[in-house]
Amino acid sequence: MPSSSLDPARSKCPKCGLNAFRRSRRSRLEKAFAALPYLPYRCLDCQARFWRRVPKVPPDHRPARVSGAESRRRKRVSSRRQFIVYSLALLLLFVLTAFFTRDRE
Ligand SMILES: [Zn+2]
Repeated sequence: MPSSSLDPARSKCPKCGLNAFRRSRRSRLEKAFAALPYLPYRCLDCQARFWRRVPKVPPDHRPARVSGAESRRRKRVSSRRQFIVYSLALLLLFVLTAFFTRDRE
């Protein structure tokens, strides 16, 4: 796999200039920005925490995209099913109402 210039393994710690660091855990607040192409790293030497841009992944190498489209498709199908159920319930309500009002007369 060709490493890009944005490869975190090739960038340096902004504090000590060392290129030995590991991925840092994201805090709860930072997880809200998970959609952004940035990841936190921590220097193994000076413990400095910094953010690095994640190298762009081609769309066809992103399985999350596929599963996202799949879940959207499933949601559409389930909403269609929900619509049928609601219309059947409404029809049943209408029939019952018509039946009971006629019975009362
Ligand atoms: Zn450092």
